[in-house]
Amino acid sequence: MSLTTAATDIRARFMSGRVSGFTESVIREMTRLAIRHNCVNLAQGFPDFGAPAEIKEAAKAAIDADINQYSITWGAKPLRDAIAAKYRHTYGLELDPEREITVVCGATEGMIASTLSAVNPGDEVIVFEPYYENYAPDIQLCGAVAKTVSLRAPDWSFDPEELRRAFSAKTKAIIINTPNNPTGKVFTRAELETIGRLCEEFDALAITDEIYEHIVYDGERHIPMITLPGLRNRSILVNSMSKTFAVTGWRVGWVIAPPDLTSSIRKVHDFLTVGAAAPLQQASAVALTAGDEYYARLGSDYSARRDRIIEILERSGFRCFAPKGAYYVMTDISAFGFADDLAFARHLIEHVGVIGVPGSSFYVNPRDGAQQMRFCFCKKFETLDAAGERFAKLARG
Ligand code: GLN
Repeated sequence: MSLTTAATDIRARFMSGRVSGFTESVIREMTRLAIRHNCVNLAQGFPDFGAPAEIKEAAKAAIDADINQYSITWGAKPLRDAIAAKYRHTYGLELDPEREITVVCGATEGMIASTLSAVNPGDEVIVFEPYYENYAPDIQLCGAVAKTVSLRAPDWSFDPEELRRAFSAKTKAIIINTPNNPTGKVFTRAELETIGRLCEEFDALAITDEIYEHIVYDGERHIPMITLPGLRNRSILVNSMSKTFAVTGWRVGWVIAPPDLTSSIRKVHDFLTVGAAAPLQQASAVALTAGDEYYARLGSDYSARRDRIIEILERSGFRCFAPKGAYYVMTDISAFGFADDLAFARHLIEHVGVIGVPGSSFYVNPRDGAQQMRFCFCKKFETLDAAGERFAKLARG
């Protein structure tokens, strides 16, 4: 029996139907390729610069203080208190840390714990497309069906009628990622209200991924769906430390939900992971006491990086859809004349030495993203400039 046959045979016998419907993460595969081919990695969204000194000191102090055993499964009390204080200060939102907050291992676990706790097999879950690649597996692992609604370039607006048609008696939830990965869209209050009214009409949940909350440009403001009148009892808010404090490898996040939903989410979380890293929870509690100026600086700092990457990409022949938030630029690559985004990505890796994320990985139908590529700019200016120099090897078709 050949190795291939054996592998196929094993897959047929042992792979669950739950996992057969999706592939490995394209974003993380791009990082592996970047390392192998020594490329400038503008694919996976993680900073290549240091985290703030205070948060690193706090983590070291927590380990020295022997905060090294499990914390309470739904999160160390100081961190849940700090999260509640943060939402009170920023949005005037009163949360009960005992009943409405669950600390999890990053927003990735937050999303899957939330969907697994609320969504049944056969339910439908709406996502805006292009979408961050995790949401499709989240939905499939629940045995549910994804319904997509288009965000249309260049401003990534949606058609309210298309959204309404996506809702049905089977709709259990809609996933909203604002500020949005990969488009950089920041949903407006009016858009969130439109979504909220449909959630009420169809008795659906709004599950929001808000990890780019503080990365907004040009005076934009992030609005948590949970703060809209009437939505408190049907919103699940997911957020994390990763992007706001440049600690994507810490895996500390949280979920805010009404008490009855929180108890379901906590059960799933407990049996999936028990809890997030205890000393890093302690350090996160310290970080969340940062003043408003920290968040303002974060936005203005990323705004300068955005301007630099757009200038570089446009000079190199890309058409950019300038983001209003988050730290990615979606680009139109049609000027280069490649058959599709995968062929273009291969060319970038082999002949240019820069890597991004092929647009098709953000769409159900790969054709819809075949002339798009996402680049992240959460990088040192010198990294962005190095990419710019390498792009000089790109010729327009
Ligand atoms: N959210 C980041 C991105 O879109 C990182 C993805 C990941 O690896 N979890 O690139």
